Amino acid sequence: MEVILGEIATAMASEADRGRVADFIPELARVDPKLFGIAVALPTGQTITSGDARVPFSIQSISKVFTLAMGLGRLGDELWMRVGREPSGLAFNSILQLEQEGGRPRNPFVNAGAIVVTDAILAANQPRELLAELLRFVRAAAGDDDIHINKRVAKSEANNAHRNWALAHMLKARNNLRNDPHRVLGAYFHQCAIEMNCVQLACAGRFLIGAPETALISVENVRHINALMMTCGHYDGSGEFACRVGLPGKSGVGGGILVVVPGRASVAIWSPGLNDQGNSALGTTAAERLARHMGWTVFS
Ligand code: GLN
Repeated sequence: MEVILGEIATAMASEADRGRVADFIPELARVDPKLFGIAVALPTGQTITSGDARVPFSIQSISKVFTLAMGLGRLGDELWMRVGREPSGLAFNSILQLEQEGGRPRNPFVNAGAIVVTDAILAANQPRELLAELLRFVRAAAGDDDIHINKRVAKSEANNAHRNWALAHMLKARNNLRNDPHRVLGAYFHQCAIEMNCVQLACAGRFLIGAPETALISVENVRHINALMMTCGHYDGSGEFACRVGLPGKSGVGGGILVVVPGRASVAIWSPGLNDQGNSALGTTAAERLARHMGWTVFS
């Protein structure tokens, strides 16, 4: 495996077309598009890495996997009263469907759905308390306490996230937010601003492998989260990712992708340049190469 990861990192280093680094969060626009990292974590805890696998990056929407795990753990099926389980076919920050469909977001991975999940787990607590609990969960999953929130990134998003403010107010108007939009988005921007490197993220994703030695949540919730990662984890690029990679994955606009190989491994890939759907361009290519080389797929 070390050899193939090395080959992928070398091939990705010489790619000229690297996508575009997200610029709607100004702090993210400063990241060097030349960086590339990959890490594979096995259920045993062994990790294999290549490239910039120890450089921290902003996990952004990958945080939605962890908040969904907390939400399902706390509320169970009740959560689905407030958020759906269908792909949206629209951009992650689209406002269209939310108005048309009465304020129940299509799924927990589009921004509107993730904001509802954050509201649900915030309940009557302070955002500070929720974030501490989320960090505890992520650190325990990763087996690493050196995971933190980059407050500059959170602030940078808060000052520029006009679409998220619109979504939160629409949710409130449709009676699908218990808390004030400011409180919910305050927590949401900070969860997105968690920084991890590929090794930490791959390790944190092990609870989704479904192996007995990495269990942290119920088997049923592992299955549901993987199903949603497969169908909705890359927004309007989810079908394309499923065809090219054949594994559940969740992307973030920081350029990270968490890929689950059920029963076998958790993979984190990072390359900051994004494709038109806001998913890591080279991250997708690297995931495709790795899956093909290893014969990893959930489809055959
Ligand atoms: N914080 C970003 C947002 O809410 C996350 C989007 C993403 O990673 N796709 O817009």
